[in-house]
Amino acid sequence: MADSRETDVVVVGAGLAGLAAARKLTADGIDCVVLEARDRVGGRTLNHSIGDGKIVEVGGQWVGPTQTRVLELMRELGLESFPTYDKGEHVLEYEGALNRYTGTIPKLSKRLLADFGQAQWKLDRMARTVPADAPWTAPKAKDWDSQTLWSWMRRNVYTQGARDALSLGVEAVWAAQPEDLSLLHVLFYISSAGGLDALWDTQGGAQDSRVTGGSQLISIRMAEELGDRVVLDAPVRRIVHSSDRVTVHSDEIEVEGRRAIVALPPTLTCRIAYDPPMPALRDQLTQRIPQGAVIKCMAMYEKPFWRDQGLTGQATSIEGPVKLTFDNSPPDGSPGVLLGFLEGTQARTLGAWQPERRREAVIECFTRLFGREAQSPLDYVDKSWADEEWTRGCYGCYMPTGAWTAYGPQLRDPVGPIHWAGAETATVWSGYMDGAVRSGDSAAEAVAASLVARGERFAPA
Ligand SMILES: Cc1cc2nc3c(=O)[nH]c(=O)nc-3n(C[C@H](O)[C@H](O)[C@H](O)COP(=O)(O)OP(=O)(O)OC[C@H]3O[C@@H](n4cnc5c(N)ncnc54)[C@H](O)[C@@H]3O)c2cc1C
Repeated sequence: MADSRETDVVVVGAGLAGLAAARKLTADGIDCVVLEARDRVGGRTLNHSIGDGKIVEVGGQWVGPTQTRVLELMRELGLESFPTYDKGEHVLEYEGALNRYTGTIPKLSKRLLADFGQAQWKLDRMARTVPADAPWTAPKAKDWDSQTLWSWMRRNVYTQGARDALSLGVEAVWAAQPEDLSLLHVLFYISSAGGLDALWDTQGGAQDSRVTGGSQLISIRMAEELGDRVVLDAPVRRIVHSSDRVTVHSDEIEVEGRRAIVALPPTLTCRIAYDPPMPALRDQLTQRIPQGAVIKCMAMYEKPFWRDQGLTGQATSIEGPVKLTFDNSPPDGSPGVLLGFLEGTQARTLGAWQPERRREAVIECFTRLFGREAQSPLDYVDKSWADEEWTRGCYGCYMPTGAWTAYGPQLRDPVGPIHWAGAETATVWSGYMDGAVRSGDSAAEAVAASLVARGERFAPA
């Protein structure tokens, strides 16, 4: 017999969004229970021990200065950040040669740089006309949602080099290829982050800083506050709902409440059965919002040897398979940790390989970029998020062509007593940890307002 509990709000998923929602509800005096499928909290954030009490993050990790909500939450939870290592020269591998450069602009032909610059300028300018809370209302929404980013690049980016560089920048942000993405979705995402530089930059951008002790601590601390309101090993299979009641069924527990907040990547929300079923438009949306593919790979060395060579550890390679690297060493620089991403096509291809073969390919790439010292790491870890039953891809979901304009409102509109949260539903920093926290706050506010509106709760004084 399943255990049963009763509460005001049942939250599904103990990632940043679900836990932020539960924290806000609790602070507002609304009772809640959080059901989490895994045996841990944090979802797409995960600390991995590398010994001596140190960790690396195999999921989301960076925070940037304009990601104000997650920074505020970290302060509330007593967590600090430290800057991403960024001293020295970066490396670019292009047409079989290695170039070292400082700042954001590599030493490439003026023609290529001008072409890349005009493409970025156009995308930023177009993004300013896309309201992040309703992209389908942008003046050119229909036109932009009818083409992929790749179709746009064919007409607006003139040199192969600039196309390659832009594709690399796109893979780094969406873990997908330009041909996968609706142009409107790309513009929405740029709009929600405040520009392409904000998405791409280390200093001052999305890769600016890291959470001391690891980003999973944000979720761990919230779960500690919530105590036995958080139930682990409780995959939600079915939600029975009426206009003002929900019964949420997991394998060994069922929880009754007035509202539910489902805080999962949208793709996973349709793996839960609903009774009555979801309206057609909501279900069709979830048939059209796939996850990107990423494998995060890290090699550990006695020390960050690239620093001695005057290098930041940040490299970009058009050749790949690792196209982007960072210095991911702990704050004290011991051990040295090189981080590389396999994204989109590379993640799909190397994800199907045996782990040992993938490791060899990644280390071979690190060695090409940073020299022979990279050849023999002390340790290595990688994580393929598409393999994870309760995630199935990363960094997040994206919209292919036609989805925003046909189904946009269904991403966030509640269905009866069921509300949606999760990084993908955020209007600011969508797809990021900051967006996840904001989405949890917003869902909690919407639930509280609906309880008041229907007379199920008095408005707080
Ligand atoms: C490799 C990688 C690198 C990233 N890098 C960054 C970065 O540097 N900076 C940044 O800001 N963001 C980054 N991200 C994205 C960031 O991690 C996510 O946007 C954020 O963590 C999403 O939080 P969420 O709560 O919306 O979703 P999730 O973290 O996916 O939480 C959903 C939760 O629901 C649970 N769940 C799923 N199905 C069920 C079910 N049926 N019943 C119950 N529970 C269920 C899951 O186990 C999970 O705990 C990265 C992500 C990855 C994977």
